[in-house]
Amino acid sequence: MPVYAMMSLDLPMKTIAGIEKICRVFLWKGRKDVRGGHCLVAWKDVCSPHEIGGLGIPNLKLLNLALRTRWGWLCRADPMRPWAEFNIQISEQARALCEAARGNGEALHFWYDHWLPEKRSLAYLVPTLLSEISGRASRLSVVEALHANGWLRAIHSELSFQALVDLLVVHDRVAEVILSDYDDRFRWKWSGNGIYTASSAYAAFFRGRVLAAGATEVWSSKAQTKCKTFMWLALKNRFWTADRLSKRGLPHPARCPLCDQSDETIDHLLLGCVVAREVWSTLLRGWNRLCWLPTLQASLAEGWTSLVVQGKKERRNLNTSITLICWCLWKHRNSVVFDAATPNARKIQQMIDSEGRAWSSAGIFHSVDFSLSCLVDFLWNVIE
Ligand SMILES: [Zn+2]
Repeated sequence: MPVYAMMSLDLPMKTIAGIEKICRVFLWKGRKDVRGGHCLVAWKDVCSPHEIGGLGIPNLKLLNLALRTRWGWLCRADPMRPWAEFNIQISEQARALCEAARGNGEALHFWYDHWLPEKRSLAYLVPTLLSEISGRASRLSVVEALHANGWLRAIHSELSFQALVDLLVVHDRVAEVILSDYDDRFRWKWSGNGIYTASSAYAAFFRGRVLAAGATEVWSSKAQTKCKTFMWLALKNRFWTADRLSKRGLPHPARCPLCDQSDETIDHLLLGCVVAREVWSTLLRGWNRLCWLPTLQASLAEGWTSLVVQGKKERRNLNTSITLICWCLWKHRNSVVFDAATPNARKIQQMIDSEGRAWSSAGIFHSVDFSLSCLVDFLWNVIE
């Protein structure tokens, strides 16, 4: 990512679109071009943090804004910097991240800073009025604007009807404001110590979004990235299973290729299918948790998040194990569909056993409950 350039410049949208295109084709196909059908998830969602259902790839527009916010923050927090007098353009979104505590009003910008009691700027409340004034009237500090109604006297142009309405709003808002003798203070409200960091600025743009079910479970596992990405797509129901193919009028198998009894959906393949349930019951018996056996209608996100486990290491082991089990179920399904293999729960158990041994020897599991390493001997007896 061009971080240095993004700290210095507002990247043009054309540049951002060009970089995003390179990232998009690399992610979905690893080649020069992709069509819409190749992209399983909208790029906007891909470029969201894990916890709200994204893949965690940076959103370049917001990252650019977060990095550029640094200069605006430094101008306010440390006005003795030699370049602090320069007219640095700061977006309204970036200004909104900085909390201003009103003192004597000398350092606060009348129109753009968030100094009103409701923590909004006048630029946000009266955009029409601000768009119709220019020059000194648009550059006043709070103390200049409030002294003998300086903001009103600085407006010389003829105003539209809406701007006049805005003018009355400003008049009402500032009528009761009293300034103190203290210096104005600025605080970065998105970090514990009140100091700007680029990561806290970037995270602030995603505050208030709804958390995605299962996201914590997927990304806290220690499985390989390709397996975690598989689970991310499974939770979003983005694989070309029969239900999605039929919705688009594409050729699809009439029944689940593993059991030949039900419609094929990703939740059915990984949880509700009789073949999958046989695999799960064997493994859950080894953990002494047969009560966790998925129901026929279970959904992946709901089933996974409802499992209660004590201890962080145990939880991480469980998330890693579930990822491996689902990964092996999906690989077996693909070998049935594309290589004409015969559906066989024992083969899936063998695959889990050999993969589990490899993952254990790579140190992926903690030496506590719910690791596949503690199941290996048990599995081996079942398979034998
Ligand atoms: Zn099935």
